[in-house]
Amino acid sequence: MKDTEKIVIPQGVWDFHGHVCPFMPIGYRMGLIAMRELDVGHVGDHGAMGLSEMGVGHPQTCMIDGFMAVTGCTYGKLMMERLNYGKVACLLVAPGRGAVRVYLRSDFQDTLGKQEFFAYRKRGVEPSQIPAEVTNAVVDLVLSAPDEEMFEVTRLPEFTFSHPKGSFAKTKCSNCGEYVFERYVRMVDGKPRCIPCSGYDQTWANVLKGIQ
Ligand SMILES: [Zn+2]
Ligand SMILES: [Zn+2]
Repeated sequence: MKDTEKIVIPQGVWDFHGHVCPFMPIGYRMGLIAMRELDVGHVGDHGAMGLSEMGVGHPQTCMIDGFMAVTGCTYGKLMMERLNYGKVACLLVAPGRGAVRVYLRSDFQDTLGKQEFFAYRKRGVEPSQIPAEVTNAVVDLVLSAPDEEMFEVTRLPEFTFSHPKGSFAKTKCSNCGEYVFERYVRMVDGKPRCIPCSGYDQTWANVLKGIQ
């Protein structure tokens, strides 16, 4: 991007995200850079994989919505996963084209952190409740700063990612009677159980609650 150009986020992407904030457009820009780097377009089916280095329990995760919207690598298509490193970075992996990591430079994160927007956020004010001029200032900053000032782009020649093989096979839980896809069936006393009925507590829900 040239110094004078400003990235424009389509209105539909803002509408999907739900509020105006700086991290959704950061993710959008990360996606644009990654697609340019690998020379891939918006993914309609399953032609590329997105990976976010975000975790849980910290802000900035709005980034993922922007990245998904521009690349087409969505959670629903299972073309987006989270690596849980707690870093502001995204990876794009495309078969035959390689992999690239885009990191929001530490210096830029420092610059961003000084914006008044984050003083409101730290006080627990939701983005939609922050005065528009405060939000517009930070969004303007992330839409107009040059790529090289904001992002560190690294090709990952060794990186590969593969999904488990997809299967439609499912079975009924012997306790609640609901269908569960076979990969997630647990056997209790020789009978199939879903995870909530199995007593097995290492579920993602517990991870999100901070129990695991
Ligand atoms: Zn947001
Ligand atoms: Zn069950």
